[in-house]
Amino acid sequence: MHLSDILQLRTIPASAVFIALTRRCPLRCAHCSTESLMTSEQARGDVFTRFVGSFTSANRPDLVLMTGGEPLLRPRLVEQLARTCRTVGTSSYVISGMFFARQPTISPRIMSAIDAVDHFAASVDSFHEEEVPRDAVFRTLDRVLARGKDVSIQVVGIGHRDPYVRDVVSDIRDYFDDKVPVFVGRVAPDGRARDWVATKLPRDPVTDGSNDDLAPLPCSFATWPVVAFDGTVFACCNQDVVDHRGGEHLRLGHTLKHDWAELKSRYLHSSLLRGIRLVGPVHIARHSTRFPAAECDGYCSTCAKLSAYWDDAEAEVSPLADVLHPEFEAAVTMMQRDRGAVGFASLHGVPEFADLVHLGLDP
Ligand code: SF4
Repeated sequence: MHLSDILQLRTIPASAVFIALTRRCPLRCAHCSTESLMTSEQARGDVFTRFVGSFTSANRPDLVLMTGGEPLLRPRLVEQLARTCRTVGTSSYVISGMFFARQPTISPRIMSAIDAVDHFAASVDSFHEEEVPRDAVFRTLDRVLARGKDVSIQVVGIGHRDPYVRDVVSDIRDYFDDKVPVFVGRVAPDGRARDWVATKLPRDPVTDGSNDDLAPLPCSFATWPVVAFDGTVFACCNQDVVDHRGGEHLRLGHTLKHDWAELKSRYLHSSLLRGIRLVGPVHIARHSTRFPAAECDGYCSTCAKLSAYWDDAEAEVSPLADVLHPEFEAAVTMMQRDRGAVGFASLHGVPEFADLVHLGLDP
């Protein structure tokens, strides 16, 4: 499964689900959004196997993305989940910080987990590079590629002028002869990066809520649910939400209480989540009869407060009633899907490098 196939699904609600298998990680990267340590939380395996076991051929996501922390600290679980997914036709993906590249060989257990998934992604950036050398990661990826696995590299930096980003992208393209796709994103001001990154990123009047003339801005992160480290299922991958700092509307349930069919139905039918996907939280807040204008102070921070003021009757009030019309919803979803993998990478990554998600595709 190529990276562009994965990103093509990104705007389709409930087409995939993230599962954070552990918060633990042996690395100590300075930008870690989950503030992972080897002592961090880790739930029992059945918190995840029960959920994936509830997929059926008739009702399943197309893709499961296993993340962490470092998911390959639990290689048996990765393999078990990937094999269960495959029995019902769901593809699987795992992303790693490549801690195991510091060893001269890949352990059989980790290789078996990588063999079981349909796509393997490696994080390569200046922060990971302080923990694991770039050449060790490249040599390890060579071994994975030699087994016929689809591989991609995820780079983060401050933007297209970040000299590290330009250097590493050029190095990746040379080393892998343009055969390995790359997604270039921006460091998020979360976790260990919360205090220092915000001062380096350009101000964005749209997402910080200071632009009074806001057009609708759909949230394309509210399209794939996230199973957090403890099995709680959330509507998006915002780290504050996953750390239980979001509103009630962003909490869908728990894997030990709810199966995929139930969670998916909630996700797709909640009028508030549909509105967030179609016009974004700020637009909803500004058109709400109940939401105080002074509370509208940013994109995700406004979203976190929406359920406190939301009444389903709002969904009957124009202009939200028009927005939530199924035909409008279908049209917006189609427009987003038509922007494709590069459109998503451009919007949520560094636009100057968005085309690199197509590297390695057959001409
Ligand atoms: S706007 Fe809401 S749903 Fe979207 S990423 Fe932010 S908190 Fe999550």
